[in-house]
Amino acid sequence: MDINSLLTWYRKEKRDLPFRKDRDPYKIWVSEIMSQQTRIEAMLGHYARFIERYPTIADLAMADEDELLKIWQGLGYYSRARNLKKAAQVCMVDYGGRLPNTKAELKKLPGIGDYTAGAIASIAYGQQVTAVDGNVIRVCSRYYWLENDFNQPKEKKKLDALLQEKLPGPQEMPDFTQALMELGARVCQPKTAKCEICPLNKSCKGAQRQHPEKLPIARKAITKTIETKPVIIQAAWHENQWQIRLHKRAARGLLAGLYEFDEILPQRVYQKYSLGSYEHVFTHKIWKMDGELVVTDYDSSFIPLIQCEKEMAIPSAFMPFYQQALDLLADLDGQTILESSETEKAEMN
Ligand code: SF4
Repeated sequence: MDINSLLTWYRKEKRDLPFRKDRDPYKIWVSEIMSQQTRIEAMLGHYARFIERYPTIADLAMADEDELLKIWQGLGYYSRARNLKKAAQVCMVDYGGRLPNTKAELKKLPGIGDYTAGAIASIAYGQQVTAVDGNVIRVCSRYYWLENDFNQPKEKKKLDALLQEKLPGPQEMPDFTQALMELGARVCQPKTAKCEICPLNKSCKGAQRQHPEKLPIARKAITKTIETKPVIIQAAWHENQWQIRLHKRAARGLLAGLYEFDEILPQRVYQKYSLGSYEHVFTHKIWKMDGELVVTDYDSSFIPLIQCEKEMAIPSAFMPFYQQALDLLADLDGQTILESSETEKAEMN
């Protein structure tokens, strides 16, 4: 691989990202976990809030879980946030409050797989190790024109071994790893290989073909199960404010430990508003949801909206309904609804 051209391009073109300002292993780790499945630009706000709240591994190790999930809200894959905390606790006990400095040791931490360990070890510590993710597979399969199915672990291992032989010295490793990622994100993109502006185009086999985008071989689509799910947001006016009902999901399984709304209507409904329909796609299933906001009687299971906004991690799956419910409640006169509902109850009795 033409490493010199790649590094020259990267040093000139790289994006100015907060976790690139120094080579702090903790910041690199957090950014790598956050950027899995999320575009860098989309995660920057989350990253800034996270680092502000948990500036060190010690702070993260002591994080309150509900607060941690709230800060993670919007990024999905909440188990990643939990694993960050678990790994931080291991670092406090076994590594003196630091991240270990080799790929092999990093892989022993919860939530750190082969790619993330390679990224941290090479970027933060200059270790000569690979960090093979989707971007790197794409660039390398096109560059060397490898028609292997890299969804197969054994084929991915072969690519890893090939790349391992091409790695530059420790001084160049941080930039080399980031340059490959950056090239995959901005130039050699999944649907468009911008060969005309690529620093590797003189030596790349893909650039000599008509459609380099044919590689890498695509993963077979996963068959997803479809579930229908009603989402009933119950609201009650109490102590001069709107309060709503949420439940914590089970500690294991899909959206574990996060909050969700009811699925059945309460006994008394004073006002009802449709929140429309929405589909949320998970890795293996699709939820087809119909949402409703209902105004009902208060009981002690209701929580003030302000508290909910500040403290409860609500999964993205429910956000379209929740945001609409917030807008509707902001326009409703809770006191008047409460008074007419009390009159209605009195008349029934
Ligand atoms: S030259 Fe084209 S195919 Fe080759 S790495 Fe660059 S963008 Fe990808």
